[in-house]
Amino acid sequence: MTGEAHRPGRIEVVCGSMFSGKTEELIRRLRRAQFARQKVEIFKPAIDVRYSEEDVVSHDQKHIMSTPIDSSASILLLSSDCDVVGIDEAQFFDMGLVDVCNELANRGVRVIIAGLDMDYKGIPFGPMPALCAIADDVTKVHAICVKCGNLAYVSHRTVEGSQRVLLGETQEYEPLCRECYQKAIAEENARQNTPLEEKSSQ
Ligand code: ZN
Repeated sequence: MTGEAHRPGRIEVVCGSMFSGKTEELIRRLRRAQFARQKVEIFKPAIDVRYSEEDVVSHDQKHIMSTPIDSSASILLLSSDCDVVGIDEAQFFDMGLVDVCNELANRGVRVIIAGLDMDYKGIPFGPMPALCAIADDVTKVHAICVKCGNLAYVSHRTVEGSQRVLLGETQEYEPLCRECYQKAIAEENARQNTPLEEKSSQ
């Protein structure tokens, strides 16, 4: 690194459900750093190929160039001399990302991480809980529940399947608040159990 006296390293996490605007918030922070003439690098998991191989793209089409990588270890190799490192879709990275982010922050790098806090079952996703724990600052952003208009807390999957990573978003997921999510799950369970219940009542 350059040996400047004051380069405060820190870790910022922006987490939330799908459609919560977390990538937009990541891009906003990175843009501001670019305007301040800081050297910025952005990484995302190679698995996330929804729209573009090279851009971090949010749903409103604002984008910023990024580097797709297979492993968190690559971030250390590719981010030498950076002032700011952005990481998008962090939930898909390996657990090694936690040490990588600490290492970067300890070197004086500002690390800004965006990711899904929970999967569609409401279970903490990949390295996100650990990243929230080690972060200097955590911002939780919220989508709006499509059923009732309250703040959503989870991305409910509307199609069947148990695969945890399912990209494509708009058709397969809907943001729901806790109450509407509980209702949706209860209805799904009732549908699945209907034949058994009919059998047992005979
Ligand atoms: Zn709701």
